[in-house]
Amino acid sequence: MLNKVIVVVVDGMRYDMACEALGYVQHLVETNQAALYKVKSELPSLSRPLYEVLLTGTPASMNGITSNQTVRLSNEKSIFHLTKENGLRNASAAYYWVSELYNRAPFNFIEDRIQEDISKPIQSGLFYWEDDYPDSHLLMDAEALRRKHDPHFLYIHPMGVDVKGENYGSESKEYREQILKMGSLLAQLLPIWMKSGYHILITSDHGMSEYGNHGGITDGERDVPLFVISPRIETGIHGETIPQLAFAPLVCELLDIEPSDKMISYKFPGLKEAVTL
Ligand SMILES: [Zn+2]
Repeated sequence: MLNKVIVVVVDGMRYDMACEALGYVQHLVETNQAALYKVKSELPSLSRPLYEVLLTGTPASMNGITSNQTVRLSNEKSIFHLTKENGLRNASAAYYWVSELYNRAPFNFIEDRIQEDISKPIQSGLFYWEDDYPDSHLLMDAEALRRKHDPHFLYIHPMGVDVKGENYGSESKEYREQILKMGSLLAQLLPIWMKSGYHILITSDHGMSEYGNHGGITDGERDVPLFVISPRIETGIHGETIPQLAFAPLVCELLDIEPSDKMISYKFPGLKEAVTL
């Protein structure tokens, strides 16, 4: 097993709808090839603050990324920084706010679309800014980065589910359909990634309310799935709700690197000890 991790953050995908609509991923759970957890997102349940939570393992009151309007570089040590420090390669296909948090803020739309600079925290990046940039293209952008750069840490962040949720609400046909489409895209890529020996984590930043918004404290806004495909994780459905701050240290564990000193120490249920060869 290689210490390589692929993270897919499907923006705005609430727990219950992911569970019922991600057919192939749930097939992997049902056949004991994947694990499923419920994660309680940090607050506020907004995108930019939660990108920072997922990637640095620190809460908004500590990292200062408290709103979507907080446009500046992060002051924290992210998984991008940590992989680089440990001599590992990273890459990301993500919304431009991710570039603003770790590579350059504000985003320069003319220069920052494709970034290849190993001196930056995100070493190979492909960023989009149209909220309706197709998920199909974004996932294949990420796959192109994977094939070109062979990263140890690949961070993939499609926005389509969030857009449909905000336009039509979480109970709409459109929202459900977009998650079904995500399921089909994952069904195309997961077999390739699994065959290549990656640890794969699929989660979301926040959920979505029936009103088509998020930021508050309801379960619909906060509860997101975490699917994990990894020999280090017991397969099946885990009952314990996971704090979102436990995500970043889990990724570090799977990458076999030390977490930052600000990440929480958390005994992740179902995590098995690494077997040294
Ligand atoms: Zn979001």
